[in-house]
Amino acid sequence: MHFKARVGEKLADVKLQSALKKLQGNFVKGRADRITELDNFHEIRDAAAAIRDRTLANLDVYLDTFERNAKARGTVVHWAETHDDVNRIVREIAAQHGVRKVIKSKSMVTEECALNDALIDAGLEVVETDLGEYILQLAQEPPSHIVAPVVHKTRDEVSDLFAEKHNAPRLTDIPALCREAREKLRPHFLSADMGVSGANFVIAETGSTLIVTNEGNGRLVTTLPKVHVAITGIEKVVATLEDVTTLLRLLPRHGTGQSITNYISVTTGARREGDSDGPEHFHVILVDAGRTKLLGGDMQEMLRCIRCGACMNHCPVYQSVGGHAYGWVYPGPMGSVLTPTYVGLQNAGDLPNAATLCGQCHVACPVKIPLPELLRKLREQQFELKLKPWFEMYALRAWGWLAQHSWLYSMTTRLQARLLKSAADDRGMIRSLPFAGGWTDRRDLPAPEGRTFRELYRAASKNG
Ligand code: SF4
Repeated sequence: MHFKARVGEKLADVKLQSALKKLQGNFVKGRADRITELDNFHEIRDAAAAIRDRTLANLDVYLDTFERNAKARGTVVHWAETHDDVNRIVREIAAQHGVRKVIKSKSMVTEECALNDALIDAGLEVVETDLGEYILQLAQEPPSHIVAPVVHKTRDEVSDLFAEKHNAPRLTDIPALCREAREKLRPHFLSADMGVSGANFVIAETGSTLIVTNEGNGRLVTTLPKVHVAITGIEKVVATLEDVTTLLRLLPRHGTGQSITNYISVTTGARREGDSDGPEHFHVILVDAGRTKLLGGDMQEMLRCIRCGACMNHCPVYQSVGGHAYGWVYPGPMGSVLTPTYVGLQNAGDLPNAATLCGQCHVACPVKIPLPELLRKLREQQFELKLKPWFEMYALRAWGWLAQHSWLYSMTTRLQARLLKSAADDRGMIRSLPFAGGWTDRRDLPAPEGRTFRELYRAASKNG
């Protein structure tokens, strides 16, 4: 979780910087274009936030309803308090059904649990089938984005990787690379004993799980193997199919800049007599792993998250350093709130400060999570728990005292503004600042024009 230590390396990585340019074109512009299709976008966004809040306020009721309805349709429902519980339950299900090969569709909760490692350690073969996740499995890297896990890689890097790992001629055309991956994956779909997926939502009134995908691998994972296990956080429950349709008007638009994804798959129970396909055994694992700690507290709004990724796509910090700099499963602004909350503020101290608080993430979030406000609260907690370096604690205390004494504040800032101006070179730039190297280590700082904001404001008011 040492964000600061990784940032320099990521900024200097030319391939990464080239790969990250995709964010602006594919995701930021895509979202902007797609939301203009909705005449009542702001009403839908309000409704989506209200749906998530209503569910969270009655989470126990909806989870019980889901369990009852899922069981009635033959699903086995498991409750996992920790990541280790998830891994243990999946291993037990695998042992019970004599599973040897597991195919997976993309699931961030299983990344939280390091499920692949746990299954491989138990002697199982695990194959990721989402194209991005498959590339990462070959490269032995973690995802760097929750929707586009391989966004940090260029096409050339993927060409090199496939040529090496598939022992095949190097292809550079994207459709040809996709075909090559498909040819490698198809036999695994046909021979796997167990499919593991996540769930974008679980629907209380029908006892169903729902996944949103573009590649079709999700459908193969959920229907071909004889055993299917869906693993998801407890906060993913929604009351009704009607509620889900509202959320689905926003999720693809904010996630991939699409009006709708290629597939929306709803799974309700195991295969029944007369069904043409589907798993013989269907298990759902509902995961807590830190989520209940957020309920009823300062961070509850974070549980509204529908994992669209828009906050990271729009974040100037994420756009500059990519997801691996954040050190765990969830990057960007949502990760900077979730990671310290799940793994402990003392273990992820850089993350609440890995944001400019520019507000873009809040504006882009389809369920109106006030991410800058939550990050600010985490910073406050760091201060209260004395988790900041001593000099920062003293500096903040001193600033707090100064800000309460108007005349002294005014005098000090006037002096600072004039000193900063005098420190500028003939281009009007400051090359280095004592005690504030973070502002000048990697670029020059434009010097202020020598007057404080208050002085400028007063002058502007006088001039009408
Ligand atoms: S915090 Fe909001 S914008 Fe970010 S992933 Fe979650 S729902 Fe999407």
